[in-house]
Amino acid sequence: MTERSSALSSQAVLFRNASLVDGSSPQPRTGVHVLVEGDRIAQVSDAPIEAPQDARVIDLEGRTLMPGLIDCHVHVIATTADLGANALLPDALVAARATPIMKGMLMRGFTTVRDVGGADRGIQQAVAEGLFVGPRLVICGKALSQTGGHNDYRGFYDERDDQYQTRRLGSMGRICDGVESVRRAVRQEIKAGAQFIKVMANGGVSSPSDPIDFLSFSVDELRTIVEEASNAQTYVSAHLYTDEAIRRAVEAGVRSLEHCNLIEADTARLAAERGAMACPTLVTYERLKIEGADYGLKPESVAKIDDVRLAGLESLVTMREAGLEMAYGTDLLGEMHPHQSEEFVIRSQVLPPHEVIRSATSTAAKLLRMEGEIGCVAPGAWADLIVVDGNPLEDMSLLTGQGQHLSLIMQGGRAVKDRLNR
Ligand SMILES: [Zn+2]
Repeated sequence: MTERSSALSSQAVLFRNASLVDGSSPQPRTGVHVLVEGDRIAQVSDAPIEAPQDARVIDLEGRTLMPGLIDCHVHVIATTADLGANALLPDALVAARATPIMKGMLMRGFTTVRDVGGADRGIQQAVAEGLFVGPRLVICGKALSQTGGHNDYRGFYDERDDQYQTRRLGSMGRICDGVESVRRAVRQEIKAGAQFIKVMANGGVSSPSDPIDFLSFSVDELRTIVEEASNAQTYVSAHLYTDEAIRRAVEAGVRSLEHCNLIEADTARLAAERGAMACPTLVTYERLKIEGADYGLKPESVAKIDDVRLAGLESLVTMREAGLEMAYGTDLLGEMHPHQSEEFVIRSQVLPPHEVIRSATSTAAKLLRMEGEIGCVAPGAWADLIVVDGNPLEDMSLLTGQGQHLSLIMQGGRAVKDRLNR
């Protein structure tokens, strides 16, 4: 993937006396010293590190230091909850509106996000070049949807050609049907820079003609998509709600199971055995319920929210008991993006705080196949770091409030927010 040029890297920074919170343990690791050189973490030690000449030294005096957060389910191009209308906007307008969405994410402490439908390599490169301020982007290009599936916004009486949205920046997905057509779609997305493949394998809330229990794509199509993704040395992520849809996807080799609201214990165990991972996104259903209609969600979509919303917390317990790893995801649309950090608080109602944090650090990095690069404070990793005023293991709401409790946000060694005294 494209990465920031070294020209953007800055002065060495030595953090002294940090309380490290990375989700690996229920308690912070205190008295930690971390040296950042260029865009990477150079040293992490329980013993004092000697500051290199000209390094900036920051004594954190026990403040919390965390790896930059990772959200594994976002749509940076979703500038409104009316996704059909979004798909028709001019590309330039979509890119312009995506920039404050991405900046908002970074200022909430998310230094990496996985876009699961919509963002293209152009947006990714603009962030990597520093033209757009935002999280490091991992992209899949357009999500694959069957005719009448979760990315077919045409509705009952709209007979437009099904390729009208394929290359529009504001479209989350594209339509393809049949084994050869899905094969070609995967190859086209990979060629255009996709780092994994997203498939809509179940009905959805925000689309007009697919109740959530619809199974999308045939088993042969799903297997073909998985085959083509693995030929390209990557994996498939699937939009899924019902137990039947999840089981079918797991059996076809899908690795990243999005949403999973209606998963049952047997399927969760099967998924864990096969090495799949889940990416719940509970906050989006809470917000859609409260404000979806105000922000453009159509009535037929509003009527579907509770089909998945009500099962959300229970699904977390089911997956945890089955040993199915869960990464952090949010799936917010349009004006609802500012609620991104509330997923931490929602999950903490039923999961231990350090496990919730881990979902946005090491577990997320594992899902993105970027272990050791992001989601950890370790030598060699990107210097993506946040400093929190207080201990989020005791009060998860410290991660909410649009970053107001974050006194420093560092991305690739550069401080994008800094209110620590020099
Ligand atoms: Zn989504």
